[in-house]
Amino acid sequence: MKIAGSRVLVTGGGSGIGRFLAERLEAESAEVWVLEADAARCTELREASGGRINAYTCDVTDPATVDATLQAIFDTGFEPDVLINNAGIIHSEPLVNMLSRGERVHSRESWRRVMSADLDSVFFVTSRVVDRLLAKRRKGVVISISSISANGNPGQSAYSAAKAGVNALTRTWAKELGGLGLRFAAIAPGFIDTPSTRAALSEAAVTRLQQQIPLRRLGDLESIYLAARHVIENDYLTGTVLEVDGGLVI
Ligand code: NAP
Repeated sequence: MKIAGSRVLVTGGGSGIGRFLAERLEAESAEVWVLEADAARCTELREASGGRINAYTCDVTDPATVDATLQAIFDTGFEPDVLINNAGIIHSEPLVNMLSRGERVHSRESWRRVMSADLDSVFFVTSRVVDRLLAKRRKGVVISISSISANGNPGQSAYSAAKAGVNALTRTWAKELGGLGLRFAAIAPGFIDTPSTRAALSEAAVTRLQQQIPLRRLGDLESIYLAARHVIENDYLTGTVLEVDGGLVI
């Protein structure tokens, strides 16, 4: 599929990876729509793009809100060719915190919150978008932003499980819907230099990490765009999880 003229829906497009993908794809002449939890970020994104990116306030963890927002978008005449499931939260917490004087076990609330933001959201949005594509007999591509933590990352039970679920859904849907002209892929970033990564890691942790990464640096946002572009343009690619991590998981 050609990027120029394609219609792309990006979840969590208000900041970080999602924002970069939305702006980069728009610059390549895609028509871009964003679903974003934060209303102020939606306004800011619309203004920063000179009105060329449409941003809708939508919490993608809430199925009723997702359904209503997508219907409102479809009613404008927008028919997506590409969905990028990017919205998510990064969360680290040990299964049992042996140093805690209070509750030692991983919070059930944070488990549910992460599964909801990182896995339920992918299911809610993709199922509606795929239904629309099938109803309109259109071809399409779904890209989900996973993580190398899907391989199992100590201290990230919920996040690793959610992202492994994203990879499983990608492969399942590739097999289930490939015959109907739909393609699915996941992009699994390593450590990308975004505000959320900087918020999660101390400077010392970043320095230690860079020594472990074969390419000796955090990833840049352009590397994720190049992976997304490859998925969109290569019509024989489906069911793949592309690791973009500077070699960290080798
Ligand atoms: P980010 O800067 O925090 O951006 C995430 C965006 O998603 C934010 O704009 C956030 O809005 C939005 N969002 C979160 N929950 C949402 C919800 N329920 N409904 C709608 N929008 C929601 O994070 P990022 O680093 O760009 O990460 C983006 C994706 O890449 C995530 O799925 C993350 O797991 C994945 N990833 C990132 C890295 C990395 O190194 N950065 C590595 C591996 C994977 P609010 O801030 O308003 O909530």
